[in-house]
Amino acid sequence: LNTAQRQLEQLLADCSSAVAFTGAGISTESGIPDFRSPGSAWKRHPPMPFSDFLASEENRILTWQRKFIMDDSYAGAKPNRGHRAISRLVADGTIGAVITQNIDGLHQFSGVPAHQVIELHGNGTYAACLDCGLRYELAPIRKKFEADGRAPVCSTCGGPVKGATIAFGQAMPGEAMRRAQAAAGACDLMLAIGSSLVVYPAAGFPLLAKENGAQLVIINRDPTPLDEYADLIVRGEIGAVLEPFERANRLN
Ligand code: NAD
Ligand code: ZN
Repeated sequence: LNTAQRQLEQLLADCSSAVAFTGAGISTESGIPDFRSPGSAWKRHPPMPFSDFLASEENRILTWQRKFIMDDSYAGAKPNRGHRAISRLVADGTIGAVITQNIDGLHQFSGVPAHQVIELHGNGTYAACLDCGLRYELAPIRKKFEADGRAPVCSTCGGPVKGATIAFGQAMPGEAMRRAQAAAGACDLMLAIGSSLVVYPAAGFPLLAKENGAQLVIINRDPTPLDEYADLIVRGEIGAVLEPFERANRLN
C-alpha cells in the first residue's frame, strides 16, 4: 500500500459510519465513459434537456433513439474492482450508504443492497411514466418503438414514458434527496469517489458531510473544486486505489 492508501485504511478503521459518494469516474474502468473526459460518447449523443423532451414527439423519438444507441454500446458492462471494494465495505458494515450520481446500476450489480444505494440522477436500466410513475422495462418498450416508430406512452394514463434518469432541468427525486441528506449529515467519514464535484445539488452532499464534522476523502484522477476541504486526497486510478479494500477492510 502507498501512503495515501494507508491513510485511507486508517480512516476506514477508525470511522463508525462511512458514506460513499460516487460519480461517473468509478464506472470508466467498466467501459462506461464519464461525462467530461475528452472523447466522451456523451459529446456525440448529448443529453436532451427535460423541457425539450416534453416539447415535441420528435424530440422524444430522438431521445429514445440516442438512449438505445448508448445502451447498446455499454451493454454487458460489469462492476469493476472499485465497485467491488465498495460492496465489500458495505457488507462488513463500514459503509452504510452509497450515494451515486451514476445511472448504470453497477453498485447494485456489485452486490450493494438496493436499499443502501441512493440514486440522485435516477436509473437508466428501466423507464417510467412521467405522469403516473408506472415503471416499464426497456425490452418491450424498445420492441414496440422499433415496430411503430412512435414515442412510448403510458398504457394506463397516456403520459409520456421516459428512461428513469433525471434529465437536465428535471426535478431531483425527492426521496433520494432526503435520504442522501440524512446519510451525508450523519456519517463521520465521506468518501467522494470519481466525481468532478461540479454538478449541483449532488456535489453538495460531500460538503454537507464535511460541515457536519465528517472527515472528507476525495479519490479522483483529477483535481476538484472541493479539494481544499478534503482531509485526504487520493490522486490516482480508482480501481487501483481501492483494489486492496476489495479483499479486506483491515489490512496488514
Ligand atoms: P464527471 O464525468 O463529471 O467526472 C468524473 C470524474 O472522474 C472526473 O473528474 C475524472 O477525472 C474522474 N475519473 C474518471 N475515470 C477515473 C478513474 N478510472 N480513476 C480516477 N478518476 C477517474 O462525472 P460526475 O461528476 O459523476 O458527473 C457526470 C454526470 O453525468 C452525473 O450527473 C451522472 O448522472 C451522469 N453520468 C453517469 C454515468 C454513469 O452512470 N456511469 C456516466 C456518465 C455520466
Ligand atoms: Zn402513466
